[in-house]
Order: sequence, then structure tokens, then C-alpha cells
Amino acid sequence: MRHQIHDLLAPLPGTVRQIHSFHFGPPSAKGKIYIQSSLHADELPGMLVAWHLKQRMAELEAAGRLRSEIVLVPVANPVGLEQVLMDVPLGRYELESGQNFNRWFVDLSEEVGNEIEGLLGDDPQRNLELIRDSLRKALARQTAGTQLQSQRLTLQRLACDADMVLDLHCDFEAVAHLYTTPEAWPQVEPLARYIGSEASLLATDSGGQSFDECFTLLWWQLKERFGEQFEIPLGSFSVTVELRGQGDVNHPLASLDCRALIDYLIHFGAIAGEPAPLPELPYPATPLAGVEPVATPVGGLLVFTALPGEYLEAGQLIAEVIDPINDRVTPVHCSVAGLMYARSLRRMATAGMVIAHVAGTEAYRSGYLLSP
Ligand SMILES: [Zn+2]
Repeated sequence: MRHQIHDLLAPLPGTVRQIHSFHFGPPSAKGKIYIQSSLHADELPGMLVAWHLKQRMAELEAAGRLRSEIVLVPVANPVGLEQVLMDVPLGRYELESGQNFNRWFVDLSEEVGNEIEGLLGDDPQRNLELIRDSLRKALARQTAGTQLQSQRLTLQRLACDADMVLDLHCDFEAVAHLYTTPEAWPQVEPLARYIGSEASLLATDSGGQSFDECFTLLWWQLKERFGEQFEIPLGSFSVTVELRGQGDVNHPLASLDCRALIDYLIHFGAIAGEPAPLPELPYPATPLAGVEPVATPVGGLLVFTALPGEYLEAGQLIAEVIDPINDRVTPVHCSVAGLMYARSLRRMATAGMVIAHVAGTEAYRSGYLLSP
């Protein structure tokens, strides 16, 4: 195992923070897997899973079972981790800029495309190496002006040439679910089975240049631009894995998730061994554009009647919103049928607030598809 330390740009004198990456695997590793956790710093189930993985990877490395390089970044957002305001952790948005830590990773598809134009050939493997090399160089040329940009750039450089990128997040109160692209779904489906993903939400471009999409989109855009003339492989696929809710930090779940990720890596060929039998897929993949963000029209005490993991019919009651002053009780229903995979942790709703997400099967939204 190699431990690398990457200094971030210090926002103030004497306050430099670091990203720590742990690299496992033989020097002659074939392929690269990148796994990070807690990019939203108040989403900690993945950090415990990463810590379990760290111990297991050391054992697997000692046993000579690692075929690929496996890079682990258990603390992907040291900037957000320290944002605790009056006893409340605030790890989703940077307080300095208000920006979501998981948005606006740099899009280099045009720059890479311009550089490789005229160099592409008939060999897809050579094209893949050419693109990776160009991407590494383009990222090396980037300079960060702020600590936030420097954190994003550090993570992007670490993951840019991986075959697979797993970004471990969680929701507020939720069952296990994941986000990936329709193009990657055939490769991701076994992961959804091992992890017991109850909703698998697919979109090619959800509009936020999030960490997972900055890799898949680059290959997809190069394929769109050059695919008529040259064979451009999808050189990287990535998944945002949502390991249930913010409170689900415990050893029994983390060791199950760790086992599931290792089973998937064995199935993928990154770790030598006999893959565990594939469990049933709990729920078929659905379009991210089919997700209904259910909002309440009024503010008040939020009393849920539906649990994460429940399948709801169109029009079913999800919650009541109670105004204890005028005794008004407002029922909130979902419009689409589907699996309610996540709901809010807040119990005092404000008017217009999204209180739950339901994975419907028909795409009906377009444009920006993510939460803020
Ligand atoms: Zn997140």
C-alpha cells in the first residue's frame, strides 16, 4: 500500500488541508479502480465502508489477490468536514461560496477533443490511451484559484484514468440506491444487485457536472464527436452509490457494503477469486427524469405516513403537514407510482420544500435533474 498526501491550496496562511489517497495493488496492475467517500462531508456511511475496505484491501494485497490498482480516498472533502456551525455539520455546500461540493468539476472534453483530433486511429485501445494521456495532461495544466477548486482538481486528477469510479454518498433517510448512466448500466447492474440497490437512476447528463459525470461525460462527448469515424471506447464509468441515510453509520451495514463492493470487484475482475452468486435486482433501473421530487405546498409539522423503500401507487398519501395554530392538516401525495427511495430528515417543513423522492418509471422531467 502506498499512502500519498496531496496539499490543497491554503485559503489562509497556516491552514493547509490535505487529501490522503491509499493505493493498493501490484506494480504491474492491470486497470485502476477509484473509490472515494463523503464528498458531501455530512454523509458518513461511505467513510465507514471505506475504512472497512482499507483493512480488507491490505489483506487482499498481502494475499496477492489484487489485479488492478485500487485507490481509496476515505475523506474526499476535508474542507466540508470542518464546517460545523453551532453543533450542526454542514457538509454539502461550501460556506465560503455557497457551492455544492459535488458540482462543477472541470469539463475538459473540448480541450481533449481538440488535442487528439488528427491523432485518432483504428485501434480502440490506442485511442483510449491517447485520450487518457491527453486528459491527464489537461488536468495537470489546470490551476486552482480557490481551496474549493483545488479540492475538486485533486480528486479529479486522482480518478481521471480509472476504469471505474465509485463515489460513496448517502441521502437523508433512504434505502440503498445509485445513480449512473444508461451507457454504463450493463456494467453497473451487478453492483446494484450486490449492494441491494432499491432504485437505480439513470441519466447521461443531469446537468450539474458532478464528480461521477465529469468522467462518463468526457468519453460520451468524445464518442459523439468522433464516433462516426473512429472507435472510441467508454474508457471510464462511474457510479454515485447512496448508502442509505445519514444516520446509517454502523458496523453491521458497513461490513455488508464492504463485502458487496469486494464481490463486485471480484465479478469485475479487479480482484482474483470466485465471484459470489448474483442476488436478484430488488427494483429495475428507472430514468432519473422519471423521479418525482414531492414537494409540500405549505409549511408545518411534517408527519410521514410512508417509509423509505415503500412502493407507492400514484396519488398515495406520503405525509401530513400540520399547522398547529389554525389546525389545518394538509395531505401530501405523490403523483407518480414508484418506489419512495428517500425522504427528508427535517420535521418542520417550509412551503415548497421537497420532502421525498419517488422513482417513477416514465421520464417526464428535463434539464437540470439533480437536487441543488
Ligand atoms: Zn451526496
